[in-house]
Amino acid sequence: MSVSPSVIKVNKTENSRLHEVDALNINFGKHYSDHMLIAYYENGQWNPPEITPFHNLYLSPATTFFHYGQAIFEGVKAYKAPNGDALIFRPYDNWKRMNRSAERMAMPDVPQEIFIEGMRQLIALDHKWIPESEDTSLYIRPFMLAIDEFIGVRPAEKFMFIIITSPAGPYYNHPVSIYVQDQYVRAFPGGIGFTKAAGNYGMSMYPTREIKKMGYDQILWTDGFEHKYVQEIGTMNVFFVIGDKVITPDINTDVILEGVTRDSVITLLRDKGVTVEERQLSIDEIEEAYKAGQLKEAFGTGTAASIAPIYQLTYHDDVMTLPAVETWEIANWLKQELADIRYGRKADTHGWTFKV
Ligand SMILES: *Cc1c(COP(=O)(O)O)cnc(C)c1O
Repeated sequence: MSVSPSVIKVNKTENSRLHEVDALNINFGKHYSDHMLIAYYENGQWNPPEITPFHNLYLSPATTFFHYGQAIFEGVKAYKAPNGDALIFRPYDNWKRMNRSAERMAMPDVPQEIFIEGMRQLIALDHKWIPESEDTSLYIRPFMLAIDEFIGVRPAEKFMFIIITSPAGPYYNHPVSIYVQDQYVRAFPGGIGFTKAAGNYGMSMYPTREIKKMGYDQILWTDGFEHKYVQEIGTMNVFFVIGDKVITPDINTDVILEGVTRDSVITLLRDKGVTVEERQLSIDEIEEAYKAGQLKEAFGTGTAASIAPIYQLTYHDDVMTLPAVETWEIANWLKQELADIRYGRKADTHGWTFKV
């Protein structure tokens, strides 16, 4: 069904909380913008969405997602351009990905009129919440939950789609130390690794807490059969610069989340003439490259962190320390290039920015 944008009902708050945000010291997730978007799906169709003041939800304890985890989400960012424009980075890609997650989790497609037009109207209304200082943005969190009031096990029939937003400062300001995980697994063929399902995050909390106790920042996940092929770091896609090539695990499998940042990075590198290989990459190959002095850079990519440099990888007793991050050519160039496009400081030749 299609919902005409004019159908989005808007109920504005009379008491903006914007003054509560310390613009010079933004604590991600501490503040949520004045408004949210909410839409309900029932009887096989979406009802018109509503933009309302940010509010708590009132739900039956029997609500499906509390028990069985039919819950998916997205992560998008809006940036303030020097000319004052509000720019959302590649929201159509998030919309398509949300619907791929929805299908795998037996949830309904979210129509463009709700995801994109709803997001546009929400950001237009709360545009003052997009912070303006260096490296800041407004994080946009669309998500969908199964809300049947029923604890029997079956795919739900009622769903709720919500968008909330939160001002974000710089995310990772320090290079990360990585533990190569060969006990716990994030994703396996036939599973839900390619989706942004809440369960993928729930299952990673314990292994992540354990390696943090040991002094590492993030996990490098490996495959579930041999613990040999690398997948992702934490909740980011991963890239290795070996010699003059950039290598990242391919997405022709269902174990890798297809990151929008990943795709942007690959596109920018290929535009520049850098060879990017999307293929299986084993930890043995990484170790050999390290020993041969060919492991030049390694980094994670994601909407939250943008480019997260890895300064050290630990695999069993082998500690691989990379050259000083300041000397890296590729990751540092990418970080700057991506920022210039996202903030509208540089021509967007790929049609990535969406002006609100
Ligand atoms: C969200 C996510 C990413 C990054 O995707 P982006 O679209 O670049 O933000 C990578 N891996 C996992 C597991 C994720 O959930």
